[in-house]
Amino acid sequence: MITVEQHLAHVLGALAPLPARTVPLADAYGCVLAEDVVARLAVPPFDNSAMDGYAVRSDDVAAASAEQPVRLRVVGDVPAGSTARPVVEPGAAVRIMTGAPVPPGADAVVPVEDTDQPPGPGAGKALPAVVLIARGPAAGRHVRHAQEDVAPGDLVLAGGTVLGARHLSAAASVGYGSLRVRPRPRVGVLATGAELVAPGEPLRHGQIPDSNSTLMHGLVQESGVEAVDLGAVDDTPDALRRVLDQALGRVDAIVTSGGVSAGAYDVIKEVLEPLGAVRFVKVAMQPGKPQGFGLLEAPGAAPAVPLFALPGNPVSVFVSFHVLVRPALAKIRGGGSAVPLRDAVAAVGWTSPPGRQQYVPVVLDAEPDASGRVRVRPATSGGSGSHLVASLALADALAVVEPQTDRVDAGDAVRVMMIS
Ligand code: AMP
Ligand code: MG
Repeated sequence: MITVEQHLAHVLGALAPLPARTVPLADAYGCVLAEDVVARLAVPPFDNSAMDGYAVRSDDVAAASAEQPVRLRVVGDVPAGSTARPVVEPGAAVRIMTGAPVPPGADAVVPVEDTDQPPGPGAGKALPAVVLIARGPAAGRHVRHAQEDVAPGDLVLAGGTVLGARHLSAAASVGYGSLRVRPRPRVGVLATGAELVAPGEPLRHGQIPDSNSTLMHGLVQESGVEAVDLGAVDDTPDALRRVLDQALGRVDAIVTSGGVSAGAYDVIKEVLEPLGAVRFVKVAMQPGKPQGFGLLEAPGAAPAVPLFALPGNPVSVFVSFHVLVRPALAKIRGGGSAVPLRDAVAAVGWTSPPGRQQYVPVVLDAEPDASGRVRVRPATSGGSGSHLVASLALADALAVVEPQTDRVDAGDAVRVMMIS
């Protein structure tokens, strides 16, 4: 038996991030940034108006009031997007819209509501010859200054960032149309088992719905990478070889369930162990003890494909995925945050196998304990059974019980992996 840490170190040591490539912003969502993004443009790129109104010299209108409005000649019009640069001489104003460049000479904007002009389109469209200003803004008022947010050369996004909508829009605003990223890995998921029937199909005696394919597909997606459904195979070596041959070259990693234990029909072990590339080990964890991991040769010059052979029990799949596969996918992807560990307290007791790190799907209580710690209780009603797939749906987190602990009592401190 090897420890979880030893196995995980072996897995991570065998993996490297996918090579970086340059992709248009539209294709970069969910990818990991492969280099720092430094602003090429300032934000905002020029002084511009924060209001629809009139650009003025603040000194001209300092004395303006509703009773004694100041009269200014309107010498130009600058809608957003305009390239016109009418100069605001003393006694003059330029009509300006939100986001349009503040014209030379002006140092403030009077909102249209503080003038005699009607707001809005239609009636207000014609440019007046004169505008009456009823309230004088201070210098700089309603002007958004160039570089207020970011100056050229500023660091905007750090390499390793998982790119979401706000990151991509920041890159766009500082002058980028494409980014250097590591592509989202494509991860094939494959269930094995002669007893499996597609979800929703009628069962004959001895058959069960293939819930692991759906589980693994969703877990891969929840890891922020792309899932490729490789289906389910029965426990025959030829069927498995066929699916693997077709998958190699199409995917960046493969996750399988079932067929790794000591059964007579454990097909994953039967096919892959003799090749030598996949190592089958017993890991000191519960659930999830039998594990396989290795690199499969891909056709041509394609890089070898890591394969994670998880046991078949659905809770084992769930736990193994979070403990072993998720960190591995983060490495291949080039980033992504580790699962946070949180201090909690057991609301009820349970037993734990000595010598094995136990992962218990737990529900978080709505009410914390007296010292503010979150209280947790096992989600699977029947105990720690790794076959209790339906109640797994309730789990908010995985409680982690160290190998030297053989029982957890109500009130004991426990650490939980926040998985959802
Ligand atoms: P195995 O590791 O193949 O011996 O499977 C262990 C247990 O998990 C058995 O009870 C299987 O029926 C069950 N199992 C295996 N694969 C699946 C699957 N894809 N969906 C649901 N249960 C499964
Ligand atoms: Mg099986």
